[in-house]
Amino acid sequence: MIGAELSARYPFLPGASRVLGDLAPSLSDLVTDQVYDPVRHLAREELIASLLPRSPASAPSAPAETGAFSRANPEERVLSFLYARMLVAAAPSTQKVARRWCDGVARRAGDEMARADVPDTELSTLAETLELEFSPLPGGRHHFTFSLPSYVSLSASLRDERFRLARQDLREGEVEVERGLAVEMLQEGVREYLLDSMASLRLEPELERVLKEHEEEILARIRALVPTFASGGFGVAVRPELFPPCMREIRNLLARGQNASHASRFALASFMHKVGAEPETMVDAFRGAPNFKEGITRYQVTQIAQHDGGAGYTPPDCATMASNGICFREKDDLRPSPCADPAKVKNPLNYYRIRTRPLARSLGPRAPTAGTDPSGVSQDPEAPKVPSESEASATSSGPSSTPSPDRR
Ligand code: SF4
Repeated sequence: MIGAELSARYPFLPGASRVLGDLAPSLSDLVTDQVYDPVRHLAREELIASLLPRSPASAPSAPAETGAFSRANPEERVLSFLYARMLVAAAPSTQKVARRWCDGVARRAGDEMARADVPDTELSTLAETLELEFSPLPGGRHHFTFSLPSYVSLSASLRDERFRLARQDLREGEVEVERGLAVEMLQEGVREYLLDSMASLRLEPELERVLKEHEEEILARIRALVPTFASGGFGVAVRPELFPPCMREIRNLLARGQNASHASRFALASFMHKVGAEPETMVDAFRGAPNFKEGITRYQVTQIAQHDGGAGYTPPDCATMASNGICFREKDDLRPSPCADPAKVKNPLNYYRIRTRPLARSLGPRAPTAGTDPSGVSQDPEAPKVPSESEASATSSGPSSTPSPDRR
């Protein structure tokens, strides 16, 4: 069990709220009771600090800590962490906000762990709490071992060459690392733990309503700080509500925590890449899937996005979608549905262009007006190419090696 000191320094750890003892307030009190004004203030400061853009020069090591955090006592830190979580869950673009906030919290934890006076045993306790197989090597050499599965799972989302398994000392199923690398990996473990816990956090509707009412100003600030999406050449930010019915249905399925076939996962990931979603946004779309694993999903999504020198895979055409049982044209909320005209909608990307074109035109000169694709749908010269029948069928069901954000 972690004590008060560790709870204060790592207030996100499971069990840290035990430090509150009998004084633990209800979540509703935390939102409304004046007594918790300082805690709410601290949570807002910390959250906003984690969302502010960081300069590239400071990016690798900039602490996300505000001065107020270092002055706060253990109870205030734990409560402010709990309150910040609620704010993140209530925020617009929740997953993007969550990602940046989790990065900030993990970075601060990394700074704590990297302190020279932190004993090796503290790193072991942290790792154990995060359910990582990790131990210090005897002899006071400040070297550690990760079990192979723990190492692989943590390093999957770390892009730096230094973390590549091939560069590590691997013996009998254990990976030996020096302290600096161990701290960076544990920081990643913290980040993934936080992201996973945010993915399952659901606020009670009434609590969320009250929270939004009380925190209108900060939520508006978050909205301004967290940009939405890239355009992908369609001339508009990604608009999930304008996705074709097939893609909306697959997203809904995943959001409800239901399984989706390999074909539908591949279709959604490739579609989202083509309409300009960032890899992180694509990962978010799979977050609700059963047994979602962040590192594996990010890897597979990156494979899809980087295919063919960054062009990415093209989503399957409508005929293939239909033969895979994932064309949901009857579920379209638009009447008449563009899906009803196979001469215009041969691929889900055609549908999206039809729906976004008026918006893109209203937004200015980059609106897609020039060119016509083989199906007769207007094309922006810079827009992703809509596949021909043969191209589409080559990628439609996906070769067996086609990466797909499958659950594992
Ligand atoms: S017709 Fe095409 S775009 Fe429409 S739901 Fe079916 S697969 Fe999707």
